[in-house]
Amino acid sequence: MKIGVLLDEPRIPLGFDYVFYEVKPSSGRILRPLPKAWNVVNCFADNTISQTKPDLIATCKGDRAVRGTPRRFLWDWICPSRAEYREYCLKIIQEVAQHDVAGIRLDSVCFPREGYCDCKVCTEVQKTSGKDLIEWRADQIGSFIREVRDSVSCELGLTIEPDPCYGKERFGLDLEQIVNYVDFVSTPLYMDYSIVYWLDILANCFRRKFSKPYFIELYAGYPRAPTKHLVSALAVASNYADCVVLSTYEASLTETLKRELARDEEVWKFLEERNCSEVLRILRDWKKRP
Ligand SMILES: [Zn+2]
Repeated sequence: MKIGVLLDEPRIPLGFDYVFYEVKPSSGRILRPLPKAWNVVNCFADNTISQTKPDLIATCKGDRAVRGTPRRFLWDWICPSRAEYREYCLKIIQEVAQHDVAGIRLDSVCFPREGYCDCKVCTEVQKTSGKDLIEWRADQIGSFIREVRDSVSCELGLTIEPDPCYGKERFGLDLEQIVNYVDFVSTPLYMDYSIVYWLDILANCFRRKFSKPYFIELYAGYPRAPTKHLVSALAVASNYADCVVLSTYEASLTETLKRELARDEEVWKFLEERNCSEVLRILRDWKKRP
């Protein structure tokens, strides 16, 4: 098993196989690419474009997919059918790829939810396609990922919504189609890890869905949960994932966490009892070179 970290600052902490850096967060700001890191590009989540070009926001029966609405979107969603916005994203991705990056991970590549988007463009294009709505939506997302694959030569990862059952119907995510264009698939399984029962069910379910490497992202940022909860999540995720990514977002927190995990005897005991040899190997490495 590999270990990764997700940061929103341009740093490369030691002791990780994969360092993810948010080069285009959902805020829509475009930051300077970070060489040697996996640069994360948010595609259809963009709180800047939603302000400057509000007519590009995805819609459903008069509702717009923006923050603060009754549907509680975490960010603003752009309609995936707009050629000008797709082109804008592709250009950013191509630019990032020029910077000797380890790879690029695509985030928020989907429709915001079921029922979206019913804007004029989506309605017209779907009608002329002759395809039913579910297939057409999946094609809109699949074709975008394929266009990215065709336009850059670096490795590509993809984060999908953590719904193992209805990803296609709700988000336009047709796993069978899109795994062909990427080198790994990642799911953020962010939750309260005091009970890891649901984490186990979701991770197991995703693991069975495709044969490409599977990455699990665990929330490890502020506000900090008890370390023992995170360790039990790590133990569960290590049963299914090819790489577990700790989403600390901050480099200083990453170092604190590494130190705590490597030194805490209770953590070692817990992992030894569960035969988590891969996680223990990582902790041993962190202990050797803090
Ligand atoms: Zn639309």
